[in-house]
Amino acid sequence: MTKPCQNYDVLVIGLGPAGAVAAAGAAAAGYKTIGFDGKSRAGYPVQCAEFVPSLLTNETMAAYHQSQQLIDKMVTFVEDELPDEKIPFSGRIIDREKFDAELCEIASQSGAVLNFGKKLIRLDGNKATFNDGTTVIAKIIIGADGPHSFVGKAVGLTNEETLETRQITIPLLGPIKSTDIYLSSKYIGGYGWLFPKNETANLGIGVVHEKRHLLKPLLDELHARLISEGRVGGEILYTTGGAIPVGGMIKPYAKSGDATVILAGDAAGLTNPISGAGIPAAVVSGRMAAEAAISLLQGNDDAAEEYEQELQELFGTSLKRARAHYEKLMAIHKNETPKPAQLRTAWIAYDEYWSEKFNNDAKGETYDLLEA
Ligand SMILES: Cc1cc2nc3c(=O)[nH]c(=O)nc-3n(C[C@H](O)[C@H](O)[C@H](O)COP(=O)(O)OP(=O)(O)OC[C@H]3O[C@@H](n4cnc5c(N)ncnc54)[C@H](O)[C@@H]3O)c2cc1C
Repeated sequence: MTKPCQNYDVLVIGLGPAGAVAAAGAAAAGYKTIGFDGKSRAGYPVQCAEFVPSLLTNETMAAYHQSQQLIDKMVTFVEDELPDEKIPFSGRIIDREKFDAELCEIASQSGAVLNFGKKLIRLDGNKATFNDGTTVIAKIIIGADGPHSFVGKAVGLTNEETLETRQITIPLLGPIKSTDIYLSSKYIGGYGWLFPKNETANLGIGVVHEKRHLLKPLLDELHARLISEGRVGGEILYTTGGAIPVGGMIKPYAKSGDATVILAGDAAGLTNPISGAGIPAAVVSGRMAAEAAISLLQGNDDAAEEYEQELQELFGTSLKRARAHYEKLMAIHKNETPKPAQLRTAWIAYDEYWSEKFNNDAKGETYDLLEA
């Protein structure tokens, strides 16, 4: 039997950090809000290394509540050279599943109706259809459905470039309080990471989409190296992965029939192309997407355009800088093997990364959360 179509002010697709925060904001302002996620429960499976900068607690206390351990420095290993330390580098490792679940709980308590295990399969104008036959008509549709956003694709706004990742969770043989970064010419377009979470750690690698077949052997090799150094155990407790947008910000709004579509988080390409950090931008843009939705519903026809301008002001500088580094390093990869100095220039721990020549295009405010 066909289900009756439901009418809402705001429909949110994807209930990761961006969507959950957007749903909470719209519902708290009194607008009839509904959210959907294809996952059977909030935050699971986890596809994340779970690091957030300390300043994220200014945006959401969920980062504090779901904190697992503190980080006070970044250690960067470039090829086989001695490691470099960046102190202070302050942040925390969170329990990402519980973090997403807490943000969804806030949205529910604010009055949003949240649905899990229901995937958007069609968007015709202002009408969304889900895989269980549910249909919803909405005035505003917030696409917070990640790097390969279905909503974005439906209105012609897509992340053109993504990085692919593979990550394992393994036992840590001694406590560490640093995020360890592995730079190598073998990790084309990305890097390796070891992020501690008390007695365990997330060990992962990212590479350009075309080299994704190398992820498993490269990660096995890095794992074997850390085992031989006596830092981690051989047992694999969890395996995950996922895509990371590296093309920079895309236009975050469009019309879909009578509805206005607003993109947030990874769907809008707000993840940093160099560091892969996207949780802070997802939380902040989710809040801003809700504000834009509210403003549109109150009759401000320019609100979506203003949202784009505000995103540019906040994130434009860091995204353009990161993208400039990314392109430069990829150009080197085309002709030769990048040398350790070139790998360092393209990493946030080194002064070269912040040099003027990478700021030419980067005007406006720098957003600390992304660059912490
Ligand atoms: C391996 C890995 C490690 C990472 N580590 C870090 C890190 O340490 N720190 C950091 O800041 N960032 C990290 N990131 C990036 C970070 O995870 C993302 O930037 C962040 O999750 C973006 O949040 P979001 O809400 O925009 O999207 P997501 O968290 O991806 O949420 C999108 C949601 O949309 C749902 N969805 C998708 N399509 C549909 C559909 N058709 N219908 C219904 N629902 C749908 C998905 O199920 C998902 O729950 C990492 C990414 C990866 C892949």
